[in-house]
Amino acid sequence: MISTTNSLKINVVTIPDEGLNFVFAEGKDWFRQCFQEGENPDFEVQKADVSCLITKTSGTVFIRGKIDAIININCSRCLEEAKLPLAADFTYTLIPDKPELKEDMELTQEELEISHYHGDFIDLTPIICEQIILQIPIKALCSEQCKGLCPQCGTNLNYDKCACPSSCMDSRMAVLKNFKINN
Ligand SMILES: [Zn+2]
Ligand SMILES: [Zn+2]
Repeated sequence: MISTTNSLKINVVTIPDEGLNFVFAEGKDWFRQCFQEGENPDFEVQKADVSCLITKTSGTVFIRGKIDAIININCSRCLEEAKLPLAADFTYTLIPDKPELKEDMELTQEELEISHYHGDFIDLTPIICEQIILQIPIKALCSEQCKGLCPQCGTNLNYDKCACPSSCMDSRMAVLKNFKINN
């Protein structure tokens, strides 16, 4: 992942004591620019609403945020495009890349995600993209009730019935039959 010029950058120096509320909404193009050319995620972010509170304690920057997103992803059962809502809370800690400030760190490092930032700016884009990617289910479904495709003829069983001898029972018996033959 790369950060780009058109990104959400926070100037660390200007974060006030009470913290900085940062709210933004982004879409497809924003998410795509998080990836290098040729590196295509298998889903799209249609919309991402992000709100976060950014605070700073002696150079260490804490980001506490909330993401509400809608992604377009192919259903792993019926292969149709599905709109999937995602909601996530996240915490992110960034420490400056300056050796003299490192002894300030007495945080429970295991519990928090800790990264480094360089210079005075923190780019939120790769952080938010990473958080969205972490929320993507391994097997996305258009609906819990999705009937999927017929394994024999490929008909989308959500829309249509087919004439194939169907049901889980049959496919289990087919497996059993193969099993016997193999023995
Ligand atoms: Zn489906
Ligand atoms: Zn069929």
